[in-house]
Amino acid sequence: MLEIERRGKGYWLKTSSGDIFADIVIGADGAKSRVRRFMMSELGMLNENKKDDLKEGIKDGIKYYNGWQYRIKLEENFVPVRFAQVWMSEGIPFFIWAIPENEKIVRVGIISKNGRIKLNHFLAESKIKGEIIDKLAGIIPLGMIPRTSDKNIALVGDAACHIKPLTGGGIYYGLKAAEILVECIRESNLPDYDRRWKRKFGREIRLGLLARKVYEILNKYETENIFSLFKDNANFIEQTANFENHSKVFREAFKRPKIFVRAGKILGRNIGKLIG
Ligand SMILES: Cc1cc2nc3c(=O)[nH]c(=O)nc-3n(C[C@H](O)[C@H](O)[C@H](O)COP(=O)(O)OP(=O)(O)OC[C@H]3O[C@@H](n4cnc5c(N)ncnc54)[C@H](O)[C@@H]3O)c2cc1C
Repeated sequence: MLEIERRGKGYWLKTSSGDIFADIVIGADGAKSRVRRFMMSELGMLNENKKDDLKEGIKDGIKYYNGWQYRIKLEENFVPVRFAQVWMSEGIPFFIWAIPENEKIVRVGIISKNGRIKLNHFLAESKIKGEIIDKLAGIIPLGMIPRTSDKNIALVGDAACHIKPLTGGGIYYGLKAAEILVECIRESNLPDYDRRWKRKFGREIRLGLLARKVYEILNKYETENIFSLFKDNANFIEQTANFENHSKVFREAFKRPKIFVRAGKILGRNIGKLIG
């Protein structure tokens, strides 16, 4: 799709294979969604956000991160990576991951500025040795769009920022939202889609965005303290953590005075920055 315009009760779409008239438009067109930009402009949401900071990759209230991933065919004598592993490091807002596909192939990736250089550097130093058989680069959009559906237009997946802010994973929320979207289309109730998916996992994304904001403003000393807090409570985290529901571990942690007080001491200095 190259262009979109409202025409009467529907939409006119200019595409590389001809023009289309559509009664309903679903923007599932990824991180840099044209449908999202059109919809935000139609609904008057573009000028509301005055916090654009292009140097930091923030536009229209969405923060864009760059992701890189290699598929690596491991050397014959390499002991296979059996579990998903992550490495956190200063200057990397997310983490480096290694996820085994099978005994022979592992996916190693990073979400960071200059990600390719950092990933190559990591691999040069790491024990993961083999041939890169595939490379993937992409954009991860994080944010909460005020409205993702109207009478006959809606957004889903990366176009709607259906992404876990702490990991950058978008497949789970994207698919969950798609189910809700189908339900709303069947009921001829597209405007309600925005409310329904937000009721299901909107709070989870909001909390993740806040946690990410906190994580990104911590200095090296505070980050180390946070990780030592995690380490000291490893059993609790293992029992409580849920891969699809990150807020659970925070909610449970804050019920424990020992963790609450220690976290408060580490984070206290940053409260002003978060509010400001
Ligand atoms: C390096 C990397 C690793 C990742 N790893 C994981 C992971 O392990 N787990 C996980 O959950 N998530 C992961 N993600 C995120 C995940 O890939 C995305 O959240 C997911 O692919 C989003 O799906 P989508 O269909 O919404 O968007 P996309 O997969 O981006 O699909 C959008 C589609 O729309 C098309 N399109 C775009 N613009 C137009 C247009 N104007 N007209 C017509 N078509 C258009 C594109 O060509 C594309 O086919 C990763 C992302 C990156 C960058």
